[in-house]
Amino acid sequence: MEDTCWKKDETPYMIFACKKCDGYLYVKPTQKTKKCLRCGRTHQVKNIETVEMVRGMTEAVNRVKQLQNDLSLKKMGGTPNFCSQNDFKIPCPSFELVNIEQDLKPSKEETLMDNDYSKDFSKLLHKISKTYNKFPEQLIAMLAGEFSIPIDQISFLKNLFLKENYLIKIKNGYFKIISFPK
Ligand SMILES: [Zn+2]
Repeated sequence: MEDTCWKKDETPYMIFACKKCDGYLYVKPTQKTKKCLRCGRTHQVKNIETVEMVRGMTEAVNRVKQLQNDLSLKKMGGTPNFCSQNDFKIPCPSFELVNIEQDLKPSKEETLMDNDYSKDFSKLLHKISKTYNKFPEQLIAMLAGEFSIPIDQISFLKNLFLKENYLIKIKNGYFKIISFPK
């Protein structure tokens, strides 16, 4: 394994909304199709109505999260500002909103085998390990689509793999792969 230097990602990404489930997605303009990870619908990239163009995977992931959050708030009835200032609460958090930003920690009972995506995640790490011996978290997000792992599962899977010591955190927010699940 070579210690490859991580370059700033300037790849353009198109942000668009899924026609079937309204979820936001991102795709490289060079891709032909993009499958929605929420509902499974395949989109032809040439027919996409782009909401926004951004540069770099990190930017694309963040923008999708942001739009998705805005959408969840809208679904809950516009600006959640109908309570008095004193007892202001976000009314009934929709599951989408909860899933997105929270850094989900696996519970004690949960093991790798219980997670539908752990095999795919392991394959993803295998791929990374062929090129990089240490890598930033964004690289996982960048490859997630290729392995059909939903973006909102990444942080959960990462923590699961950290917990089981397949992955360790090193300096500057980088990660290192120690071993793979059998
Ligand atoms: Zn969809």
